[in-house]
Amino acid sequence: MTKSEFGRVFNIQRYTIHDGPGIRTELFLKGCPLKCEWCGNPESHKSIFEPGIYPSKCIGKDKCGFCIDVCEKKESLVFKDNKLISIDRSKCINCMECAIACPSDAIKMWGEEISIDDAMEIIRKDIPYYEKSGGGVTLSGGEPLMQIEFVKGLLRKCKREGIHTCVESTLCTDFETIEKIIPYTDLIITDIKHMNTNIHKKHTKMQNERILENIKMVSKINKPMIIRIPIIPNVNDDMENMKATADFILDELDNNILTLQLLQFMRLGEEKYKSLNMIYPMKDIEYDKDKFLEKVKSFRDFFKEKGINCIVGTTSKEKSND
Ligand code: SF4
Ligand code: SF4
Repeated sequence: MTKSEFGRVFNIQRYTIHDGPGIRTELFLKGCPLKCEWCGNPESHKSIFEPGIYPSKCIGKDKCGFCIDVCEKKESLVFKDNKLISIDRSKCINCMECAIACPSDAIKMWGEEISIDDAMEIIRKDIPYYEKSGGGVTLSGGEPLMQIEFVKGLLRKCKREGIHTCVESTLCTDFETIEKIIPYTDLIITDIKHMNTNIHKKHTKMQNERILENIKMVSKINKPMIIRIPIIPNVNDDMENMKATADFILDELDNNILTLQLLQFMRLGEEKYKSLNMIYPMKDIEYDKDKFLEKVKSFRDFFKEKGINCIVGTTSKEKSND
């Protein structure tokens, strides 16, 4: 098998209902060009596999110590009171031997390689659910288009077998890359995180011009598309940004989207950040959840008044073109 027939994933979830219509099998691919402060999947950021540490599950090096036996860079393993508490990332070479050897899930391997054939085997198991619910397969991440050959190959196989396909992407790439998956993709889900490129860059590490251009191109070729705005307190929860987003959808996209979904901020993934020795960027955020939901609903009403098909969340019925 060639390299392009393998993908790097950090999760495969069956029976998901949020990313596309019906019941879906969702593959989350590793690697992402953006680093959004509110990201709930920090294990997706890097393309390489990484060990994640869960100290409470460590049996103790006096009783076990398998990680020490197999580690080539033993100075990477940081113990306290006998328990593995972290990994010194400047010394670790991400070989994953410790995760393989650990008998107690104290070291989780973030990432695994999967072939297109093996992915198809998992996907085929759920065909009856897709048929009953109008579901299918969603490729998400991270940014799936960073592994374009694997993604294209997998989508093509799904389409050959009559399976509905959805790609959830930042669209932060060249349009030539996006074009490669267009014939095999029934639905694209993407985000507009902020209309102001400097604020976008401040909170995601990337500017938004290329993303907005690609959204325009996807709309122009009439590919069914859902746009999401993750509404984040003190980042993009202001009317000026909502107005700019509405203008973009109406003037630049001719309102040619299936749905605008407003996703309310939730604290997600803090344990995973810890497991990777990363600081959770939203740790100091304080907000009133109920009041915030009211605010998000008022944004929804604003978009609806403008004639944009807008919902809060992901699960209201979407009109489908296919
Ligand atoms: S990933 Fe490899 S180098 Fe890093 S701590 Fe584990 S065994 Fe050691
Ligand atoms: S192999 Fe796992 S359980 Fe054993 S000492 Fe290392 S981290 Fe702890």
